[in-house]
Amino acid sequence: MKFRQSVTAIMLISAMSFAASVLAQADRFANVSIETVPVRGKISMLIGSGGNIGVSAGEDGVLIIDDQYAPLASKIKAALAELGSDTPKFLLNTHFHGDHTGGNADFGAASIIVAHENVRGRLLGENSPASALPVITFDDDVTVHFNGEDITLIYMPNGHTDTDSVVMFSESNVIHMGDHFFNGGFPFIDLGNGGTVQGYIRNLEKALSWIEEDTAVIPGHGPLGTKAELLSFYNVVKDTSIAIRVMKSQQKSKEEIVAAGLGAEYASWGTGFINEQSWIETVFDSYPR
Ligand SMILES: [Zn+2]
Repeated sequence: MKFRQSVTAIMLISAMSFAASVLAQADRFANVSIETVPVRGKISMLIGSGGNIGVSAGEDGVLIIDDQYAPLASKIKAALAELGSDTPKFLLNTHFHGDHTGGNADFGAASIIVAHENVRGRLLGENSPASALPVITFDDDVTVHFNGEDITLIYMPNGHTDTDSVVMFSESNVIHMGDHFFNGGFPFIDLGNGGTVQGYIRNLEKALSWIEEDTAVIPGHGPLGTKAELLSFYNVVKDTSIAIRVMKSQQKSKEEIVAAGLGAEYASWGTGFINEQSWIETVFDSYPR
């Protein structure tokens, strides 16, 4: 009897803490509004909380790239309705992180989700509901023919994670970089999920070689960018990585490199999501001694 009472009490407490965490999550997004930024032609970018969403809206309907967090789905749908339809025909995922796929379970009920096979694998590993899973997967690249152009996802191996793609729009002259671009800040590179600094740099070189001077560049995080801004991001990632590797090769410890710092010219790059210390630690851990 006593046992049953305590089990009931535990169940009640866990139900209460579950409700509290749902409320806290809802609270966190209560004041988030979705801003629509026109990019070029049929392409727009939605900024809210989490990864920037790319939108193609035209005669075939709506296609979106990434979907931020689950509690934002209704606000995202309201913004999409303004662009033509609140029900995308296709949802492309740049990678598996929850700030880019949180709305999958909701959108996946009516939209076809397309992503690299490793996105499906990692979401399955997290016990995601069936409607959150990509139903079309690929290994190198795949093209969706939609709204009068080729919309191509291209796999970017072992960069931000081992699940990433960039998305190129053939006619609109737009690229969505996913988390291979933090516009104005040091990147997050997820070493625990197949990301590497070396791969990240190689992937940036590939993307830079594919685009034009006037290509509009949608970053995973930060404001809408240009090729010039992607190039300065690449230079910061590459140059600071080299500086950190040089210090490491001089037998400096991680702590000593953090204390030495990267210099005033990079100060503004550490003010966002990833500060200078986290970036130094990531590079240090990504390269063998
Ligand atoms: Zn990410």
